[in-house]
Amino acid sequence: MEDLLRRIPQISRIMEHFRERYPLRLVSRAAREVTDRYRREIREGRRSDVENLLRDVEKKIRELMETSLRRVVNATGVVVNTNLGRAPLHPEVASFLEEIATGYSNLEYDLAEGERRRREKHVEAYLLELTGAQSALVVNNNAAAVFLVLNSLAAGREVVISRGELVEIGGGFRIPDIMRSSGAILREVGTTNRTKPSDYETAVGDGTALVMKVHRSNFYMEGFVEEVSLGELASLAKSRGVPLYYDCGSGLLVDLGLGAGERTFRKSLEEGADVVSGSGDKLLGGPQAGVIVGRRDLLESMRRNPLMRVLRVDKLTLAGLEMTLKLYREGRQGEIPVIRMLTEDPETLRRRAHRLSRLLKGLKGLKVRVIRDVSRPGGGAFPELELPTYCVCLEHPEITAGDLSRRLRGSEPPVVGRIRRDTLLLDVRTIGEEEIRGVAQAVRRVLEAGESSSDRS
Ligand SMILES: *Cc1c(COP(=O)(O)O)cnc(C)c1O
Repeated sequence: MEDLLRRIPQISRIMEHFRERYPLRLVSRAAREVTDRYRREIREGRRSDVENLLRDVEKKIRELMETSLRRVVNATGVVVNTNLGRAPLHPEVASFLEEIATGYSNLEYDLAEGERRRREKHVEAYLLELTGAQSALVVNNNAAAVFLVLNSLAAGREVVISRGELVEIGGGFRIPDIMRSSGAILREVGTTNRTKPSDYETAVGDGTALVMKVHRSNFYMEGFVEEVSLGELASLAKSRGVPLYYDCGSGLLVDLGLGAGERTFRKSLEEGADVVSGSGDKLLGGPQAGVIVGRRDLLESMRRNPLMRVLRVDKLTLAGLEMTLKLYREGRQGEIPVIRMLTEDPETLRRRAHRLSRLLKGLKGLKVRVIRDVSRPGGGAFPELELPTYCVCLEHPEITAGDLSRRLRGSEPPVVGRIRRDTLLLDVRTIGEEEIRGVAQAVRRVLEAGESSSDRS
């Protein structure tokens, strides 16, 4: 044991070995960590050689040089996947982000007048044009939008809302909680499954500041259900002189022809909502943001709210949002990744799946099939919609689907698929054409690595 311990090289020798190739700080840290670990393992009788020490130090250095946030391949078929970062941006949006990010910009500066200007101005004109609203505003995300609307219009007063809409969106965002913390007083009406116009009529009174309707983004109800439509609610609110706020969730700007379930901002306003809010990184397909549109006087009181400063967006968000909205203005929304993936032609998906499956042919033991399945838009949009898709289905006699999935998540690039029974499905709806080759390489590598490790044992 003493002999083995003596064979562990000095830190200075390890540093010398790597000094040309890697930052010294990291070499030193990795060298210390790995030699400490080796010493411990030798003392505990768990190690009988020091041959691989330099290789382990190098592996550690590389780990230390990896970023935590990484690009991954989404093979889940869930287009708006919150865990995987929601909307991927259009390449032109990304290069505009780079342009604005790496220099100064007229973020809060009117170049013509040489005066200060509100930063949200950069996107407001687009939003008015695309939604038909009188006024528009952006904040950090839709949760912030809900908070700002309630705090500005209803602090200390009642907000009437159906019990069927007191929903949890995920990530701990619950409508009743956000309402309480905004200072608004919750006035629930109806029951979980049924709310009628008369329920609202009884509840709306002198203490009512706002009637609110929340879109059920991530679930749907079937059976003995009744809800009051946005249009009906609008007439009721109008007759009582109370504003109506609709949280549409998904941020749909144009009708995608995918059926009912999601309303565009424009439609929501036309049906009579006074204020509408939605996310920037769901169906809108842009960066994380909260978009608020509606009546000028109501939005003006939100603009004057000191919270506006707390919830304000940064220049990267504004750059991303402006360029995304510019694609809509130019009628190029079909190119926006989220919209393209949701409306992808099944034939294209079938061809992509076969291309991936061909690249995976001949891997030892791996059974590869192309199957038809359905993908779900996910993450707060179209909860009942199932889109026909094609998946590459992987099965291996010696590796469980769970194990294969875990190995693929650890590969480069990481690939996240979905497991069904004991197979791993790679849904090509959310895999880019240019990512197919990388996915095939990742699968090949994890199978080969598995083989060589079993050879060693
Ligand atoms: C997603 C969603 C939110 C939260 O939006 P974020 O942009 O994630 O903050 C709020 N309300 C509804 C109805 C949603 O679907």
